Amino acid sequence: MASVSAETILQAGALSILALGLAAVIALTFLSAPYGRHARAGWGPSIGARRGWHLMEAPAFFGFVGVALYHLVGPGLRAPVDPASWILFALWILHYGDRDLLYPRRLRDPYRPMPLAVVGMGFSFNLLNGPPNGLAVGLERHPVAWLLDPRFLGGVLLFLAGFGLNRASDARLLRLREANPGGYAIPRGGLFTWVSCPNYLAEIVQWIGWALATGSLIGAAFAIFTACNLAPRALQHHRWYRENFPDYPPGRRALLPFVL
Ligand code: NDP
Repeated sequence: MASVSAETILQAGALSILALGLAAVIALTFLSAPYGRHARAGWGPSIGARRGWHLMEAPAFFGFVGVALYHLVGPGLRAPVDPASWILFALWILHYGDRDLLYPRRLRDPYRPMPLAVVGMGFSFNLLNGPPNGLAVGLERHPVAWLLDPRFLGGVLLFLAGFGLNRASDARLLRLREANPGGYAIPRGGLFTWVSCPNYLAEIVQWIGWALATGSLIGAAFAIFTACNLAPRALQHHRWYRENFPDYPPGRRALLPFVL
């Protein structure tokens, strides 16, 4: 039986992720993902948020690392590895090392119930997304000139800017969570001056940067999926703030300053 080529796996992975993005944007237009402030009954058994985040993000971290290292230093190595590949490897580890191992430790309400259905969906998506991105990074070789190519440089800068702003915005929210146990307050300062969900905006920017820097179809599919997943949730958060806080800043938008 002929073996399936890596290119076929990557194309199939990218198409599946794009299909899921379309499904997510349609589904999330009509219902909100039932965790955090949108949690509600009827979604089956739950686990604590800290364990949920660790579990959900594990395939993105460990799946990526395993597949990428197999091709970068393991038996799958076919050609000398270039610096751009290691930089891309490091960027993914920076994000998912934090998201899977550290972010759950920073949660101020680690036992807040998170439906297993949500964890299962996140886990499945990360299984579909992490290993193929690891395959793309592990297999692709770049000429030295790629290091100075505007797509690579711009992509890395966007990724790092998105990462920094995402973490800074999440940190503000986690401080609010600590100051308001069991309740919510209006976030202020930083990018919250302009939008309700700067953490989501920054996450989208980060993965657009990844798509540019990798120049890969699978990277582009992930960036599109992230926007399809987080834009509807930003609109739901924004609507929720307006309904629950009569003094919510009137000029603040949901996701894109002055636009959306
Ligand atoms: P949220 O902004 O909904 O919540 C983040 C944390 O802050 C939660 O602990 C939440 O508590 C708390 N919080 C939020 N707003 C307030 C407030 N006004 N007052 C008090 N506490 C508040 O983010 P998510 O949980 O949806 O996402 C967390 C991270 O994961 C983000 O960085 C996001 O970008 C990323 N993510 C990425 C996805 C992707 O597709 N790539 C998908 C989903 C998330 P509580 O839980 O009690 O609401």
